[in-house]
Amino acid sequence: MLPAAASYDLVIVGASFAGLVAARTAAMRGLKVAVLDAKHGAGHRVATTGILVKEAVEEIDIPHALTRRVYGVRLYAPNLKHVDLFAPGYFFLTTDTANLLRWLADEAQRAGAHLLWKTRFEGAAREGDVFRLSNLNICARYILGADGSRSAVARHFGLGRNSRFLTGVEYEYEGLCDIDPRFLHCFLNSEIAPGYLAWVASAPTVVQAGLAVGPGRRPDVGKFLNYTDRIFQFGKARLVGRRAGRIPCGGLVRPWAGNGVMLVGDAAGMVSPATGGGIRLAFHFGRRAGQAIADHLLHMGPAPDVALAPELPGFLLKRAMRFGLDQQVPNALISAALGTSAMRTFAQQVFFHKRGAKGVTFSEFEERLVRLSTSIASGAEAAVSQGK
Ligand SMILES: Cc1cc2nc3c(=O)[nH]c(=O)nc-3n(C[C@H](O)[C@H](O)[C@H](O)COP(=O)(O)OP(=O)(O)OC[C@H]3O[C@@H](n4cnc5c(N)ncnc54)[C@H](O)[C@@H]3O)c2cc1C
Repeated sequence: MLPAAASYDLVIVGASFAGLVAARTAAMRGLKVAVLDAKHGAGHRVATTGILVKEAVEEIDIPHALTRRVYGVRLYAPNLKHVDLFAPGYFFLTTDTANLLRWLADEAQRAGAHLLWKTRFEGAAREGDVFRLSNLNICARYILGADGSRSAVARHFGLGRNSRFLTGVEYEYEGLCDIDPRFLHCFLNSEIAPGYLAWVASAPTVVQAGLAVGPGRRPDVGKFLNYTDRIFQFGKARLVGRRAGRIPCGGLVRPWAGNGVMLVGDAAGMVSPATGGGIRLAFHFGRRAGQAIADHLLHMGPAPDVALAPELPGFLLKRAMRFGLDQQVPNALISAALGTSAMRTFAQQVFFHKRGAKGVTFSEFEERLVRLSTSIASGAEAAVSQGK
Protein backbone atom coordinates (compact mmCIF):
# COMPACT_ATOMS: atom_id res chain seq x y z
CA MET A 1 0.00 0.00 0.00
CA LEU A 2 1.31 3.48 -0.88
CA PRO A 3 2.06 5.75 2.10
CA ALA A 4 -0.53 8.54 2.52
CA ALA A 5 0.36 11.63 0.50
CA ALA A 6 1.23 14.85 2.36
CA SER A 7 -1.77 17.12 1.81
CA TYR A 8 -1.49 20.86 1.44
CA ASP A 9 -4.01 23.58 0.69
CA LEU A 10 -1.48 25.37 -1.47
CA VAL A 11 1.68 24.19 -3.19
CA ILE A 12 3.87 27.01 -4.49
CA VAL A 13 6.48 26.14 -7.10
CA GLY A 14 9.50 28.48 -6.79
CA ALA A 15 11.02 29.82 -3.56
CA SER A 16 12.18 33.23 -4.73
CA PHE A 17 10.75 36.74 -4.41
CA ALA A 18 7.19 35.96 -5.55
CA GLY A 19 6.85 32.45 -4.11
CA LEU A 20 8.26 33.21 -0.66
CA VAL A 21 6.14 36.32 -0.19
CA ALA A 22 3.03 34.42 -1.35
CA ALA A 23 3.88 31.55 1.04
CA ARG A 24 4.32 33.82 4.03
CA THR A 25 1.02 35.61 3.35
CA ALA A 26 -0.99 32.44 2.68
CA ALA A 27 0.45 30.65 5.74
CA MET A 28 -0.27 33.67 7.95
CA ARG A 29 -3.87 33.57 6.73
CA GLY A 30 -4.23 29.96 7.84
CA LEU A 31 -3.44 27.85 4.77
CA LYS A 32 -1.26 24.75 4.95
CA VAL A 33 1.45 25.70 2.47
CA ALA A 34 4.42 23.92 0.86
CA VAL A 35 6.98 25.65 -1.34
CA LEU A 36 9.04 23.51 -3.75
CA ASP A 37 12.29 24.68 -5.29
CA ALA A 38 14.80 22.82 -7.42
CA LYS A 39 17.66 24.77 -5.79
CA HIS A 40 19.77 23.51 -2.88
CA GLY A 41 18.65 26.29 -0.57
CA ALA A 42 17.59 29.92 -0.28
CA GLY A 43 20.06 32.36 -1.84
CA HIS A 44 21.77 29.59 -3.81
CA ARG A 45 22.84 30.60 -7.35
CA VAL A 46 21.35 34.10 -7.34
CA ALA A 47 20.54 35.22 -10.88
CA THR A 48 19.41 38.81 -10.34
CA THR A 49 21.15 42.13 -9.65
CA GLY A 50 18.57 42.52 -6.89
CA ILE A 51 18.21 46.30 -6.90
CA LEU A 52 14.96 47.38 -5.26
CA VAL A 53 13.04 50.47 -6.24
CA LYS A 54 11.51 52.52 -3.43
CA GLU A 55 8.06 51.08 -4.18
CA ALA A 56 9.35 47.53 -3.52
CA VAL A 57 10.16 48.32 0.10
CA GLU A 58 6.80 49.99 0.45
CA GLU A 59 5.34 46.53 -0.33
CA ILE A 60 7.55 44.52 2.06
CA ASP A 61 9.66 45.91 4.91
CA ILE A 62 13.08 44.32 4.74
CA PRO A 63 15.99 44.48 7.20
CA HIS A 64 18.08 47.61 6.84
CA ALA A 65 21.34 45.66 7.22
CA LEU A 66 20.71 43.77 3.96
CA THR A 67 20.53 46.91 1.85
CA ARG A 68 22.48 49.99 0.77
CA ARG A 69 20.56 53.12 -0.07
CA VAL A 70 21.53 54.87 -3.30
CA TYR A 71 19.97 58.25 -4.07
CA GLY A 72 21.22 59.04 -7.54
CA VAL A 73 21.69 57.66 -11.03
CA ARG A 74 24.79 58.65 -12.99
CA LEU A 75 23.77 58.15 -16.61
CA TYR A 76 26.63 57.85 -19.10
CA ALA A 77 26.39 58.52 -22.83
CA PRO A 78 28.41 56.31 -25.20
CA ASN A 79 31.19 58.97 -25.17
CA LEU A 80 31.27 58.44 -21.34
CA LYS A 81 30.07 61.97 -20.56
CA HIS A 82 27.47 61.74 -17.84
CA VAL A 83 24.52 63.47 -16.16
CA ASP A 84 23.57 62.96 -12.52
CA LEU A 85 19.88 62.37 -11.84
CA PHE A 86 18.12 62.25 -8.49
CA ALA A 87 14.86 63.25 -6.84
CA PRO A 88 14.67 64.16 -3.15
CA GLY A 89 12.49 61.55 -1.42
CA TYR A 90 13.27 58.81 -3.94
CA PHE A 91 15.95 56.12 -3.69
CA PHE A 92 17.07 52.68 -4.80
CA LEU A 93 18.32 49.91 -2.55
CA THR A 94 21.13 47.64 -3.63
CA THR A 95 20.91 44.39 -1.69
CA ASP A 96 22.84 41.54 -0.19
CA THR A 97 20.59 39.47 -2.44
CA ALA A 98 21.47 35.97 -1.25
CA ASN A 99 20.82 36.94 2.37
CA LEU A 100 17.65 38.81 1.41
CA LEU A 101 16.32 35.56 -0.11
CA ARG A 102 17.39 33.65 3.03
CA TRP A 103 15.53 36.17 5.16
CA LEU A 104 12.39 35.86 2.99
CA ALA A 105 12.65 32.05 3.33
CA ASP A 106 12.98 32.32 7.13
CA GLU A 107 9.93 34.61 7.23
CA ALA A 108 7.84 32.16 5.18
CA GLN A 109 8.93 29.30 7.43
CA ARG A 110 8.22 31.28 10.57
CA ALA A 111 4.70 31.88 9.26
CA GLY A 112 4.28 28.08 8.99
CA ALA A 113 5.10 27.27 5.34
CA HIS A 114 7.08 24.08 4.61
CA LEU A 115 10.03 24.74 2.31
CA LEU A 116 11.14 21.73 0.25
CA TRP A 117 14.53 22.32 -1.42
CA LYS A 118 16.04 20.15 -4.17
CA THR A 119 12.46 19.36 -5.15
CA ARG A 120 11.57 19.89 -8.78
CA PHE A 121 8.00 20.25 -10.07
CA GLU A 122 7.51 17.84 -12.96
CA GLY A 123 3.74 17.87 -13.35
CA ALA A 124 0.50 17.14 -11.50
CA ALA A 125 -2.70 15.23 -12.18
CA ARG A 126 -6.23 16.16 -11.04
CA GLU A 127 -7.82 13.64 -8.67
CA GLY A 128 -11.27 15.02 -7.83
CA ASP A 129 -10.81 18.28 -5.94
CA VAL A 130 -7.05 17.99 -5.54
CA PHE A 131 -3.87 17.75 -7.61
CA ARG A 132 -1.39 14.92 -7.03
CA LEU A 133 2.15 16.01 -7.92
CA SER A 134 3.72 13.56 -10.36
CA ASN A 135 7.10 12.73 -8.88
CA LEU A 136 6.28 13.57 -5.25
CA ASN A 137 3.99 12.12 -2.66
CA ILE A 138 2.17 15.43 -2.30
CA CYS A 139 -1.41 16.58 -2.88
CA ALA A 140 -2.59 20.17 -3.16
CA ARG A 141 -5.92 21.96 -3.50
CA TYR A 142 -4.29 24.84 -5.39
CA ILE A 143 -0.98 25.28 -7.26
CA LEU A 144 0.75 28.65 -7.63
CA GLY A 145 3.49 28.79 -10.27
CA ALA A 146 6.17 31.21 -9.06
CA ASP A 147 8.85 29.34 -10.95
CA GLY A 148 10.33 32.11 -13.04
CA SER A 149 10.62 33.03 -16.68
CA ARG A 150 10.66 29.45 -18.03
CA SER A 151 7.80 28.22 -15.85
CA ALA A 152 7.30 24.44 -15.76
CA VAL A 153 3.87 25.06 -14.18
CA ALA A 154 2.83 27.16 -17.21
CA ARG A 155 4.12 24.50 -19.57
CA HIS A 156 2.47 21.60 -17.74
CA PHE A 157 -0.96 23.24 -17.45
CA GLY A 158 -0.96 24.74 -20.96
CA LEU A 159 -0.93 28.34 -19.66
CA GLY A 160 0.68 31.28 -21.49
CA ARG A 161 4.50 31.32 -21.62
CA ASN A 162 7.07 34.08 -21.93
CA SER A 163 8.52 34.27 -25.40
CA ARG A 164 10.56 37.53 -25.44
CA PHE A 165 13.55 37.98 -23.15
CA LEU A 166 16.37 40.32 -22.28
CA THR A 167 19.56 38.44 -21.36
CA GLY A 168 21.59 39.74 -18.42
CA VAL A 169 25.07 38.90 -17.13
CA GLU A 170 26.99 40.52 -14.31
CA TYR A 171 30.18 40.03 -12.30
CA GLU A 172 30.58 40.60 -8.57
CA TYR A 173 33.76 42.27 -7.32
CA GLU A 174 35.35 42.76 -3.94
CA GLY A 175 37.90 45.48 -3.30
CA LEU A 176 36.76 47.72 -6.13
CA CYS A 177 37.52 51.19 -4.79
CA ASP A 178 37.17 53.43 -7.83
CA ILE A 179 33.42 53.74 -7.72
CA ASP A 180 31.34 56.64 -6.46
CA PRO A 181 28.91 54.66 -4.26
CA ARG A 182 26.34 57.48 -4.17
CA PHE A 183 25.15 56.55 -7.65
CA LEU A 184 23.89 53.65 -9.72
CA HIS A 185 26.17 53.99 -12.73
CA CYS A 186 24.13 53.31 -15.87
CA PHE A 187 25.53 53.20 -19.40
CA LEU A 188 23.61 53.77 -22.61
CA ASN A 189 25.48 52.27 -25.55
CA SER A 190 23.78 50.59 -28.47
CA GLU A 191 26.90 48.59 -29.38
CA ILE A 192 27.68 47.29 -25.90
CA ALA A 193 24.17 46.93 -24.47
CA PRO A 194 21.78 47.03 -27.46
CA GLY A 195 18.16 47.12 -26.33
CA TYR A 196 18.89 47.86 -22.68
CA LEU A 197 21.81 49.24 -20.63
CA ALA A 198 24.89 48.34 -18.65
CA TRP A 199 25.47 49.14 -14.98
CA VAL A 200 27.89 49.26 -12.08
CA ALA A 201 26.35 49.33 -8.60
CA SER A 202 27.77 49.29 -5.12
CA ALA A 203 25.90 46.68 -3.06
CA PRO A 204 26.35 46.07 0.71
CA THR A 205 29.07 43.44 0.25
CA VAL A 206 30.22 43.54 -3.40
CA VAL A 207 30.25 45.80 -6.44
CA GLN A 208 28.14 44.47 -9.31
CA ALA A 209 29.04 45.23 -12.94
CA GLY A 210 26.99 43.89 -15.81
CA LEU A 211 24.69 44.46 -18.70
CA ALA A 212 21.55 43.18 -20.35
CA VAL A 213 20.77 43.08 -24.04
CA GLY A 214 17.55 42.97 -26.01
CA PRO A 215 15.87 39.94 -27.60
CA GLY A 216 18.02 37.93 -30.00
CA ARG A 217 21.33 39.45 -28.80
CA ARG A 218 24.21 38.04 -26.75
CA PRO A 219 25.71 40.01 -23.85
CA ASP A 220 29.49 40.53 -23.88
CA VAL A 221 30.40 41.56 -20.35
CA GLY A 222 34.15 41.57 -21.14
CA LYS A 223 33.61 44.30 -23.74
CA PHE A 224 31.76 46.41 -21.18
CA LEU A 225 34.48 45.94 -18.54
CA ASN A 226 37.19 47.00 -21.02
CA TYR A 227 35.16 50.02 -22.07
CA THR A 228 34.72 51.30 -18.50
CA ASP A 229 38.02 50.04 -17.02
CA ARG A 230 39.54 53.51 -16.97
CA ILE A 231 36.70 54.67 -14.68
CA PHE A 232 36.48 51.67 -12.33
CA GLN A 233 39.80 49.80 -12.67
CA PHE A 234 38.27 46.34 -12.47
CA GLY A 235 41.75 44.80 -12.85
CA LYS A 236 42.66 45.96 -9.31
CA ALA A 237 39.62 44.23 -7.75
CA ARG A 238 38.84 40.56 -7.03
CA LEU A 239 36.20 38.83 -9.15
CA VAL A 240 34.16 36.79 -6.66
CA GLY A 241 30.94 35.81 -8.42
CA ARG A 242 28.78 35.84 -11.50
CA ARG A 243 25.04 36.20 -11.96
CA ALA A 244 23.13 35.63 -15.18
CA GLY A 245 19.61 35.05 -16.34
CA ARG A 246 16.77 35.84 -18.66
CA ILE A 247 14.31 38.65 -18.08
CA PRO A 248 10.86 38.41 -19.70
CA CYS A 249 10.08 41.58 -21.65
CA GLY A 250 6.90 40.73 -23.56
CA GLY A 251 4.39 41.69 -20.86
CA LEU A 252 1.82 39.45 -19.17
CA VAL A 253 1.34 35.92 -20.46
CA ARG A 254 -2.18 34.80 -21.42
CA PRO A 255 -3.84 32.82 -19.99
CA TRP A 256 -2.08 33.27 -16.67
CA ALA A 257 -4.47 31.02 -14.67
CA GLY A 258 -6.60 27.89 -15.03
CA ASN A 259 -8.81 25.79 -12.78
CA GLY A 260 -6.95 25.61 -9.44
CA VAL A 261 -3.69 27.01 -10.89
CA MET A 262 -2.28 30.50 -11.22
CA LEU A 263 1.06 32.07 -12.24
CA VAL A 264 2.79 34.95 -10.49
CA GLY A 265 6.04 36.94 -10.83
CA ASP A 266 8.27 36.23 -13.84
CA ALA A 267 6.27 33.08 -14.62
CA ALA A 268 3.31 35.36 -15.40
CA GLY A 269 5.46 37.93 -17.25
CA MET A 270 5.00 40.45 -14.41
CA VAL A 271 8.15 42.38 -15.32
CA SER A 272 8.43 45.87 -16.73
CA PRO A 273 9.14 45.38 -20.46
CA ALA A 274 11.15 48.62 -20.45
CA THR A 275 13.27 48.52 -17.28
CA GLY A 276 13.36 44.73 -16.68
CA GLY A 277 12.47 45.37 -13.02
CA GLY A 278 10.41 42.50 -11.61
CA ILE A 279 11.05 42.29 -7.88
CA ARG A 280 8.55 44.96 -6.88
CA LEU A 281 5.82 43.23 -8.92
CA ALA A 282 6.88 39.84 -7.52
CA PHE A 283 6.48 41.25 -3.98
CA HIS A 284 3.17 42.93 -4.78
CA PHE A 285 1.47 40.10 -6.70
CA GLY A 286 3.06 37.41 -4.53
CA ARG A 287 1.36 38.97 -1.53
CA ARG A 288 -1.93 39.56 -3.35
CA ALA A 289 -1.92 35.97 -4.68
CA GLY A 290 -1.41 34.62 -1.13
CA GLN A 291 -4.33 36.73 0.10
CA ALA A 292 -6.68 35.84 -2.78
CA ILE A 293 -5.95 32.09 -2.61
CA ALA A 294 -6.54 32.06 1.17
CA ASP A 295 -9.82 33.98 0.73
CA HIS A 296 -10.92 31.53 -1.97
CA LEU A 297 -9.99 28.30 -0.18
CA LEU A 298 -11.03 29.29 3.34
CA HIS A 299 -13.89 31.75 2.91
CA MET A 300 -15.54 30.98 -0.46
CA GLY A 301 -14.00 34.11 -1.96
CA PRO A 302 -13.90 34.49 -5.76
CA ALA A 303 -11.43 32.49 -7.84
CA PRO A 304 -8.01 34.09 -7.15
CA ASP A 305 -7.39 35.05 -10.78
CA VAL A 306 -10.81 36.74 -10.94
CA ALA A 307 -9.97 38.70 -7.77
CA LEU A 308 -6.59 39.84 -9.16
CA ALA A 309 -7.55 40.45 -12.80
CA PRO A 310 -8.59 44.12 -12.34
CA GLU A 311 -5.23 44.90 -10.69
CA LEU A 312 -2.94 43.50 -13.38
CA PRO A 313 -0.58 45.95 -15.07
CA GLY A 314 -1.23 46.62 -18.76
CA PHE A 315 2.36 47.83 -19.39
CA LEU A 316 1.12 49.97 -22.32
CA LEU A 317 3.69 52.75 -21.90
CA LYS A 318 6.45 50.30 -20.94
CA ARG A 319 5.76 48.26 -24.07
CA ALA A 320 5.99 51.39 -26.20
CA MET A 321 9.33 52.13 -24.52
CA ARG A 322 10.49 48.58 -25.24
CA PHE A 323 9.71 49.16 -28.92
CA GLY A 324 11.90 52.29 -28.79
CA LEU A 325 14.72 50.43 -27.02
CA ASP A 326 14.64 47.64 -29.61
CA GLN A 327 15.55 50.15 -32.34
CA GLN A 328 19.31 50.40 -32.80
CA VAL A 329 19.85 54.14 -32.19
CA PRO A 330 23.38 55.18 -33.30
CA ASN A 331 25.75 55.93 -30.42
CA ALA A 332 26.60 59.38 -31.82
CA LEU A 333 22.92 60.32 -31.61
CA ILE A 334 22.63 59.07 -28.00
CA SER A 335 25.73 61.05 -26.99
CA ALA A 336 24.36 64.21 -28.62
CA ALA A 337 20.90 63.72 -27.09
CA LEU A 338 22.06 63.09 -23.53
CA GLY A 339 23.42 66.65 -23.34
CA THR A 340 19.98 68.14 -24.07
CA SER A 341 17.52 69.13 -21.36
CA ALA A 342 14.69 67.24 -23.14
CA MET A 343 16.59 63.95 -22.87
CA ARG A 344 17.57 64.69 -19.30
CA THR A 345 13.91 65.30 -18.41
CA PHE A 346 12.92 62.06 -20.13
CA ALA A 347 15.62 60.08 -18.25
CA GLN A 348 14.50 61.70 -14.99
CA GLN A 349 10.95 60.48 -15.72
CA VAL A 350 12.09 56.94 -16.45
CA PHE A 351 14.28 56.54 -13.36
CA PHE A 352 12.36 58.69 -10.88
CA HIS A 353 8.78 58.46 -12.14
CA LYS A 354 7.96 62.12 -12.76
CA ARG A 355 9.73 63.33 -9.62
CA GLY A 356 12.06 66.26 -10.21
CA ALA A 357 15.21 67.52 -8.48
CA LYS A 358 13.13 70.39 -6.93
CA GLY A 359 15.65 73.04 -7.94
CA VAL A 360 18.58 71.69 -5.90
CA THR A 361 21.85 70.23 -7.12
CA PHE A 362 22.97 66.78 -6.01
CA SER A 363 25.65 68.25 -3.70
CA GLU A 364 23.10 70.61 -2.07
CA PHE A 365 20.76 67.65 -1.58
CA GLU A 366 23.61 65.63 -0.04
CA GLU A 367 24.59 68.50 2.30
CA ARG A 368 20.98 68.68 3.50
CA LEU A 369 20.93 64.93 4.11
CA VAL A 370 24.16 65.15 6.12
CA ARG A 371 22.80 68.12 8.14
CA LEU A 372 19.60 66.18 8.79
CA SER A 373 21.38 63.06 10.03
CA THR A 374 23.80 65.16 12.15
CA SER A 375 20.92 67.01 13.79
CA ILE A 376 19.06 63.74 14.44
CA ALA A 377 22.23 62.25 15.95
CA SER A 378 22.95 65.29 18.14
CA GLY A 379 19.27 65.42 19.20
CA ALA A 380 19.52 61.79 20.27
CA GLU A 381 22.78 62.45 22.15
CA ALA A 382 21.22 65.45 23.95
CA ALA A 383 18.21 63.32 24.93
CA VAL A 384 20.51 60.61 26.32
CA SER A 385 22.64 63.10 28.31
CA GLN A 386 19.45 64.69 29.77
CA GLY A 387 18.34 61.21 30.82
CA LYS A 388 15.20 61.28 28.62
C1 LIG B 1 20.59 39.50 -14.67
C2 LIG B 1 19.28 39.99 -14.06
C3 LIG B 1 19.25 41.18 -13.36
C4 LIG B 1 18.05 41.63 -12.80
N1 LIG B 1 18.06 42.76 -12.04
C5 LIG B 1 16.92 43.18 -11.44
C6 LIG B 1 16.95 44.29 -10.54
O1 LIG B 1 18.02 44.85 -10.24
N2 LIG B 1 15.78 44.69 -9.97
C7 LIG B 1 14.58 44.06 -10.26
O2 LIG B 1 13.54 44.48 -9.73
N3 LIG B 1 14.53 42.99 -11.08
C8 LIG B 1 15.68 42.53 -11.66
N4 LIG B 1 15.65 41.41 -12.46
C9 LIG B 1 14.38 40.69 -12.61
C10 LIG B 1 14.09 39.93 -11.30
O3 LIG B 1 15.22 39.19 -10.92
C11 LIG B 1 12.91 38.98 -11.48
O4 LIG B 1 11.81 39.74 -11.94
C12 LIG B 1 12.58 38.29 -10.15
O5 LIG B 1 13.64 37.47 -9.73
C13 LIG B 1 11.31 37.45 -10.32
O6 LIG B 1 11.09 36.72 -9.14
P1 LIG B 1 10.23 35.37 -9.20
O7 LIG B 1 10.08 34.96 -7.77
O8 LIG B 1 9.04 35.56 -10.04
O9 LIG B 1 11.14 34.31 -10.00
P2 LIG B 1 12.64 33.86 -9.88
O10 LIG B 1 13.42 34.81 -9.04
O11 LIG B 1 13.11 33.61 -11.29
O12 LIG B 1 12.58 32.47 -9.10
C14 LIG B 1 12.03 31.31 -9.66
C15 LIG B 1 12.34 30.14 -8.74
O13 LIG B 1 11.69 28.98 -9.23
C16 LIG B 1 12.56 27.87 -9.12
N5 LIG B 1 12.16 26.88 -10.13
C17 LIG B 1 12.14 27.02 -11.47
N6 LIG B 1 11.66 25.91 -12.06
C18 LIG B 1 11.35 25.05 -11.06
C19 LIG B 1 10.79 23.72 -11.02
N7 LIG B 1 10.43 23.06 -12.13
N8 LIG B 1 10.63 23.13 -9.82
C20 LIG B 1 10.97 23.76 -8.66
N9 LIG B 1 11.50 25.02 -8.66
C21 LIG B 1 11.67 25.65 -9.83
C22 LIG B 1 13.94 28.45 -9.37
O14 LIG B 1 14.95 27.63 -8.79
C23 LIG B 1 13.83 29.81 -8.67
O15 LIG B 1 14.25 29.76 -7.32
C24 LIG B 1 16.84 40.90 -13.01
C25 LIG B 1 16.88 39.69 -13.71
C26 LIG B 1 18.09 39.23 -14.22
C27 LIG B 1 18.11 37.90 -14.95
